[in-house]
Amino acid sequence: MTKWNISFKAEGCCASKTELVQTHTPNSEATNKLPVAIIGGGPVGLAAAAHLAKRGEDFILLEAGTQAGTNILTWGHVRLFSPWRYNIDKEASELLKKYGWKKPDLEALPTGKELVERYLQPLADIPEIQPHLHFHTKVLSIGRKDTDKMKTANREQMPFVIHAEKEGVLATFEARAVLDASGTWGNPNPANSSGIWLKEEQSLQEQMVYGIPDILGKERERYANKCVAVVGGGHSAINSLLDLAQLKEAHRETDIIWIMRRQRVEEAYGGEEKDALAARGALGSRIHQLVNDGKVTVVTPFLIQNVKKSMNKIEIIGSQNGKERIIPDVDEMIVNAGSRPDLMMIREVRTSIDSAVESVEALSPLIDPNIHSCGTVRPHGEKELRQPEKDFYIVGAKSYGRAPTFLMATGYEQVRSVTAYLAGDEEAAKKVELDLPETGVCSVDLKSKTSCCTSNSSC
Ligand SMILES: Cc1cc2nc3c(=O)[nH]c(=O)nc-3n(C[C@H](O)[C@H](O)[C@H](O)COP(=O)(O)OP(=O)(O)OC[C@H]3O[C@@H](n4cnc5c(N)ncnc54)[C@H](O)[C@@H]3O)c2cc1C
Repeated sequence: MTKWNISFKAEGCCASKTELVQTHTPNSEATNKLPVAIIGGGPVGLAAAAHLAKRGEDFILLEAGTQAGTNILTWGHVRLFSPWRYNIDKEASELLKKYGWKKPDLEALPTGKELVERYLQPLADIPEIQPHLHFHTKVLSIGRKDTDKMKTANREQMPFVIHAEKEGVLATFEARAVLDASGTWGNPNPANSSGIWLKEEQSLQEQMVYGIPDILGKERERYANKCVAVVGGGHSAINSLLDLAQLKEAHRETDIIWIMRRQRVEEAYGGEEKDALAARGALGSRIHQLVNDGKVTVVTPFLIQNVKKSMNKIEIIGSQNGKERIIPDVDEMIVNAGSRPDLMMIREVRTSIDSAVESVEALSPLIDPNIHSCGTVRPHGEKELRQPEKDFYIVGAKSYGRAPTFLMATGYEQVRSVTAYLAGDEEAAKKVELDLPETGVCSVDLKSKTSCCTSNSSC
């Protein structure tokens, strides 16, 4: 496999800046010899690297963080609900085995940190992958060389040109194809129910966390004996609430408020004992019990319209059943209202993105939470992920846009199919197979093969 030579060229205008350039002639023959660029070194980006390595295809992987699994490490203390068997890509596992990697117990549930330390980091370190990784490299934009979005003539012959920032230095990479596996976790939604980032919310950042803080570890002091409002009705919010409830056992003055848009709190419990992933079901059952025991004050349906500072506290302003309501005296807010894809960096490529879900267009009927309640998605591959821009793909959590139901196993099958296609193996690209555990929240018979909620249905 080629190791791409990159040279630094001083920029005339600003002495402190340099530009990283790869030297290639822009014609279709030269374009085909360029590497495939993978954006993001999470589980899906690294799985794509493993598949390309296995097929002997040249690639580069650009990762904004300092190491593999950067997004996952922000929730490293959280235990996953899917066991190792669903979290390891098959090709990656084969490559790792060559270097004496010890496979974890497939039925055990890793934390995010363990997922990185025991799987993603060793994978990033293998000789087939490590030389092609660029850490500290945040992609700013992706386009076609000398060819803006409007221009069609010779478009497909031109290489992709990727602008990135590497520690204050602008870098440019060229590629024959691009897989955008940059996830959504770095772009959280605001607490505001309209989805808009208001100035007041932005000015309160010291008392707000978007994500899952380490409440029982390094953030213990911050939350102990405080009034904490958790916003959101999904698994991330439930993880934060369960930790707060445990903290409350030692620090009795801790008050926990759970704010959601859902009509009824029961809708947040999920499949519970019916969920095929026992740990995912248990999250719902545990919070159900805490609510029944009165340990968590539920405010639902509540639509947050603004958050304001009042003395040193937060005032949450919103409406409940059409009437204005203010929740006063909140010390800290934990916002788990989902996240959204960064579409700015792909503005110069021709994409087909669903206008509501912001997912890959062809996936939205399968995952749109407005119409598809259960979160189970039939297998899909290159064909569904194909974009109007030839050889450009959005994969992994970003392919689901704002929908929260993405599982790593889905991403592994996506990149298996896309990389097969890019390597010219159309047969393998077409054959998509995936057996995902059911969520158990479907109201119809899960055994029916035509149900909207079965993974092999075609709804
Ligand atoms: C708390 C939590 C628990 C979860 N539990 C499970 C579970 O049990 N089972 C399961 O299957 N799934 C689970 N998921 C869902 C999902 O599988 C994970 O979010 C997974 O990390 C998605 O992988 P990814 O590679 O698509 O994206 P990410 O892991 O988000 O990786 C994206 C990478 O891209 C990098 N990046 C972002 N922007 C740029 C840029 N501009 N330039 C360069 N690099 C960039 C990031 O730094 C990051 O490393 C969970 C998610 C969360 C949040």
